[in-house]
Amino acid sequence: MRDPRVPGDGEALAFDTVAVRAGQVRGSECEHNDPIYATSSFVFESAAQAAARFAETEPGNVYSRFTNPTVRTFERRLAALEGGAACVATASGMSAILSVCLATLKAGDHVVAADSLFGSTISLFANLLSRFDVRTTFVSASDSAAFAAAVEPRTRLLFVESPTNPLGEVADIPALARIADDAGAVLVVDNCMCTPALQRPLALGAHVVVHSATKFLDGQGRCIGGAVVTATEELGKQVFGVLRTAGPAMSPFNAWVFLKGLETLRLRMRAVSASAQSIAEWLQTHPAVTRVFYPGLPSHPQHRLASTQQAGFGGIVAFEVVGGQAGAWSVIDATRMISITGNLGDAKTTITHPATTTHGRLSAAERARAGIGDGLVRLAVGLEDVADIRADLARGLDAVAAGASAVSAQTA
Ligand SMILES: *Cc1c(COP(=O)(O)O)cnc(C)c1O
Repeated sequence: MRDPRVPGDGEALAFDTVAVRAGQVRGSECEHNDPIYATSSFVFESAAQAAARFAETEPGNVYSRFTNPTVRTFERRLAALEGGAACVATASGMSAILSVCLATLKAGDHVVAADSLFGSTISLFANLLSRFDVRTTFVSASDSAAFAAAVEPRTRLLFVESPTNPLGEVADIPALARIADDAGAVLVVDNCMCTPALQRPLALGAHVVVHSATKFLDGQGRCIGGAVVTATEELGKQVFGVLRTAGPAMSPFNAWVFLKGLETLRLRMRAVSASAQSIAEWLQTHPAVTRVFYPGLPSHPQHRLASTQQAGFGGIVAFEVVGGQAGAWSVIDATRMISITGNLGDAKTTITHPATTTHGRLSAAERARAGIGDGLVRLAVGLEDVADIRADLARGLDAVAAGASAVSAQTA
């Protein structure tokens, strides 16, 4: 006879099965779906048990800042999907990154980070941690030799996203892991763009994976959340200690939404990868587009590397429109369906002009160094029919191409 409270996740199950079933421990009601434990604290059977729970000599629930069953189910499922020893869920992607930094760095330490990270991550290293005497050297994500050259005796952390957003630069994760190991440092990979459905950085040698669960893990643009997955129990305990003390906790409701997101993760990542590939190939042939940035294109400089460490190329396509900012804005303003918004990883396709939004607070020189041109448009491909997405882009691109050829006819 089966104990209905113990779902069969003890065996070695395949990714899609783990995504649907791992981590759940059913309650006394034998509910089929994961319940939301909307409670801030938990009761004990005796004073002695309370003391043991607080001292962590007995495992169990205490207080939802650091022990909540719904959040724990999400942590166990994501840890299983990433192949990690431990997972700590956090209130946001940024608090996941901050928690790793607080767990591994102290004053006087040094970080080597990619120069094309998510804007707030750059700001965290450059403007916030610098106030606590943690220095950061920024180098190109795809330049492993630059990472090695930037390592100093006090380097404790290497931080990278791969592929980067929006330009899709790919970092050589095994090479960076070797550099980190030689330096006695921790390699952290922000796996937001691929998710474990397309890339498992811990299997490639990384020590820590961080997520903005807000993006593809949710998949429908509903909640803010994050997670840290560690290769070892030891690192997991260090991050848990930060969560318990500093308190950037994920709410049980958000954990429940993300659990639902994980169940469809691979289906969605495959779908957006297929649509993004088809749109990238079409954009390459369009006369109003001068360059397309997508790791799935054979012309992409790290296409071969991406093919070896990723199971798909993801949903982010960036492209350069002729006519600079005016050209880019007219393509964006000619859309009728695609959402003009900064978020990504939603079922709805979104379009952004990085130079004046996500990267608008950088100086012109910093933008140029990051490769963010005035004509660059970022598309985060969603789950709509790919023909509708293409048609929505073609309206503006065709107008730009017609305008450009009229100008060149006049000047000829
Ligand atoms: C959005 C994002 C973050 C930050 O996550 P929040 O949930 O918004 O705090 C970090 N890294 C990447 C790559 C992101 O796209």
